[in-house]
Amino acid sequence: MEHFDIGIIGSGPAGYVAAIRSAQLGYKTVLIEKYSSLGGTCTNVGCIPTKALLDSTHHYFDAVHKFEMHGIDTGTIQMNFDQLYKRKSEVVLKNTQGLDFLMKKNNITVIKGTASFIDNSTLKIVSDINTASTIKADKYIIATGSKPATIKGIAIDKERIITSTEALELKEQPQSIIIIGGGVIGVEMASIFNRIGTQVTILEYADHLIANMDNELGKTLQKILSKEGIKINLNQSVYKAENLGNTAKVWFKNKDGLEQEAEADYVLVAVGRKPYTDQLGLENTSVQLNPNGTIITDAELQTTATNIYAVGDVTSGAMLAHKAEEEAVFVVERINGQKPHINYNRIPSVVYTSPEVASVGFSEEDLKKNGREYKVGKFPFSANARARAGMETYGFAKVLADPKYGEILGVHIIGARAADLIPQAVVALEYEVTAEDMFRLSYAHPTYSEVLKEAYTIASGQSSINI
Ligand code: FAD
Ligand code: NAD
Repeated sequence: MEHFDIGIIGSGPAGYVAAIRSAQLGYKTVLIEKYSSLGGTCTNVGCIPTKALLDSTHHYFDAVHKFEMHGIDTGTIQMNFDQLYKRKSEVVLKNTQGLDFLMKKNNITVIKGTASFIDNSTLKIVSDINTASTIKADKYIIATGSKPATIKGIAIDKERIITSTEALELKEQPQSIIIIGGGVIGVEMASIFNRIGTQVTILEYADHLIANMDNELGKTLQKILSKEGIKINLNQSVYKAENLGNTAKVWFKNKDGLEQEAEADYVLVAVGRKPYTDQLGLENTSVQLNPNGTIITDAELQTTATNIYAVGDVTSGAMLAHKAEEEAVFVVERINGQKPHINYNRIPSVVYTSPEVASVGFSEEDLKKNGREYKVGKFPFSANARARAGMETYGFAKVLADPKYGEILGVHIIGARAADLIPQAVVALEYEVTAEDMFRLSYAHPTYSEVLKEAYTIASGQSSINI
């Protein structure tokens, strides 16, 4: 039986990053993956394919709605749905091939098959063709990720009642789609289909979209997406869905009990994801689960079995690829005796709609709940010269700062290139600099980043130069 220093189960952002860091630090490393390609949810059916479709449909939307204003006459423009999906698959393939290369380059043993524990230190791996092998490792890192969740009364049949995974493999463009859940997956998927002319309806339980972020972001996003033609129905609880053959139907009610029904080509269920520990054989170990199915870990991400760690979506916290990556590096470096740290409050969240939404730190709702005083510095993209030049004037940047010391408590942006603006706010929070420190830096002109400079200026109690 082959013996490894570190055995990693699952090859998503948590698993492949853990494997590479482990090999870099000189450990004999094995990575086990049940799926045919490496990369997990993020690379195969998550971050990467959705961003490929979001980018393509963004180009299409601009070509149809904005090019003429820029003086570009394109004649009739058509969306080629097959090519849209083909390119998406090519982007995924490039990324999974890149991971194969990185595994070889770092001398990581990759075993394809489903891993399950026989005991705390022994793993059985069963391949697709039912051949079984057994390995031992000194330490294990569980990185088995998550799967789509559903709600009572709604069975996902993967034909008409689907999740994001099936939506990424459609053979033809739907005429209409109902999306249950106006969270991150809901609004990204809604954007993809709406831009290419599918009738999109979002049914969301909360009173605003992207409910886990600062409320003002979701409210602003709702206005923008509604203007672009997405039907958004808030305060609705969907409780039943049925496949009618060529369409699917949903039943839902609002908070006053008013019942409604709706029908579309597909119903896409996007109501969150659940940790994935099926077939792992955890009952043969001393690893324990929380009531919500996540693996119990301590501050070192060590499970209740001292040689087994858990990272990424299968543990508590935000289900984000970069959170999974941070945890992967953290655990391997801890095993190595180093002293890394993760500050979960400084992990940014990004939604890749148009405009993008990005956040880090506390929201206004968090601060109110904690009874903490704060000052708000808010600046609109419509007052930014670069945004006007690029016809990207929707949205704002909002900085929340401590009124006494000026420490930045949270930064929330909805606007063009928000995803690429948020890292500087992460630095500001991580190094605990003040809003004044941030606005006294030089920002190139004209850039979208000047929106942040102005928001920092206002948050520190000074008057903005530009409004
Ligand atoms: P996963 O990526 O889920 O990987 C787990 C792997 O473990 C899988 O490959 C699985 O096959 C394997 N596995 C499970 N059990 C076993 C077993 N017993 N034996 C062997 N292998 C096993 N996050 C972002 O930060 N940015 C985004 O833009 C983004 N977009 C997303 C879009 C969509 C549609 C979805 C669904 C998710 C998105 N996410 C995004 C979330 C992101 O995909 C996850 O947070 C991330 O993939 C978690 O990484 P992980 O390694 O913990 O798990
Ligand atoms: P989510 O938690 O973001 O949103 C789910 C939404 O469904 C919530 O707003 C909830 O109120 C709503 N809902 C629940 N039950 C309902 C019901 N019966 N009727 C109507 N609405 C209902 O979950 P998600 O959008 O499925 O995303 C799953 C995970 O994937 C998230 O944790 C997210 O972080 C991750 N993800 C991240 C990105 C990104 O970083 N850009 C993109 C996609 C997914």
